[in-house]
Amino acid sequence: MNGQAEGLERGRQATAVSRAPYSPRPGATSGPDCPSVTPADAAAGSPRLTIDLGAVKRNYLRIAAHVRPSMAGAVVKADAYGMGAEPVTRALWEARCRSFFVAHLSEALTLRALGLDGAQFYVLNGLSPGMETACAAAGIIPVLNSLEQAVRWREATATLPERPACALQIDSGMARLGLDSTDLLHLVGDARFFNDLDIRLVLSQLACADMPLSDANSSQLGRFEAVASCLPDSLRSLANSAACFLDPRFRFDLVRPGLALFGVAPMPEASGFVEPIVTLDAPVLQLRTVSRGAGVGYGLTYQTSAPKRLAVVGLGYADGWRRCLSNRGAGYFDGVRLPIAGRISMDSTTLDVTALPEGALRPGDFLEMIGPHQSLEVVAADAGAIPNEILTGFGKRLLKRYRDAT
Ligand SMILES: *Cc1c(COP(=O)(O)O)cnc(C)c1O
Repeated sequence: MNGQAEGLERGRQATAVSRAPYSPRPGATSGPDCPSVTPADAAAGSPRLTIDLGAVKRNYLRIAAHVRPSMAGAVVKADAYGMGAEPVTRALWEARCRSFFVAHLSEALTLRALGLDGAQFYVLNGLSPGMETACAAAGIIPVLNSLEQAVRWREATATLPERPACALQIDSGMARLGLDSTDLLHLVGDARFFNDLDIRLVLSQLACADMPLSDANSSQLGRFEAVASCLPDSLRSLANSAACFLDPRFRFDLVRPGLALFGVAPMPEASGFVEPIVTLDAPVLQLRTVSRGAGVGYGLTYQTSAPKRLAVVGLGYADGWRRCLSNRGAGYFDGVRLPIAGRISMDSTTLDVTALPEGALRPGDFLEMIGPHQSLEVVAADAGAIPNEILTGFGKRLLKRYRDAT
């Protein structure tokens, strides 16, 4: 060990013995050792997701008007497609939406606790064994997807003074969730079964709703109608966002849009019908000028062909900015396209900002990554993904800001 390293080693030991173990006082946010920093101040350098709840409401109202006289519910599963289930559900409720669909019971329990008068919550993925009583007690409507689930629900609710509402999903031809024809024959063969269930809604899902010319749509429609006519009278629902733009026969009593509420046209025929709700901005952390032949980022996969000005922004794949956007996508500043240079890192992305006038960009400025100049759809296409994947993949540490929040 040389003298310097020895000194360092001694210093470390000395520090170790002289310092008291770290024990923050509960709730301490200020004091000489702990300068006061509000969470908002600390987040100033974070990438920001801005969510326009007014636009969510307008999209809902447009769809509701378009499908009338059918009713419109809303799918708010997966934290409302990553946009925040609680604020989004509240906003939709203010727009008079009353039927909400989530995937998990836990999601429904959280939203039920908001106390929104008249709101109904459906659990699309069904119930795992043993959850029936909790679901019924919370007034949440399970979507029964198999004969076993239906049998368990019937048994668990048999002794209750009132039969709690449930929904029944039919597999009309996509081989995903729902009762198949064998299950259905079983049910229909037992008349008492239906007496014991309060089936509020019968639903199914289309495999090819975003392909208006596909024969699968009319074949699923035919099967859904045939099966539903053998079941007790209840509301019927077949349409996701895309199916709201097919022939009106697909709409039945209640439509279940998700994606369209969040501003994505589910098929070209619907483009311009809904408005975007989300923008993503990333802060410039550092600017640098490099000479010709410089390598950028991990693997040095980008080599400059001329002197360049580069900006490093604080947005990486941990934030849901996909690594496959390396050397592909772009950001924008003042309407100028700034191509991504090199690989996306976990916490940062480097862009070629040479197209901007020198001095136009400073550390702390924000680049538009999704917004008026670059739509969510374009980013998804650059990433080889669909817009739903980008929305639901945003990382937890993005700062979410709501417009028109109530
Ligand atoms: C997710 C989902 C929807 C909503 O689909 P979008 O394409 O986002 O409109 C509707 N119904 C079911 C059963 C779903 O799982």
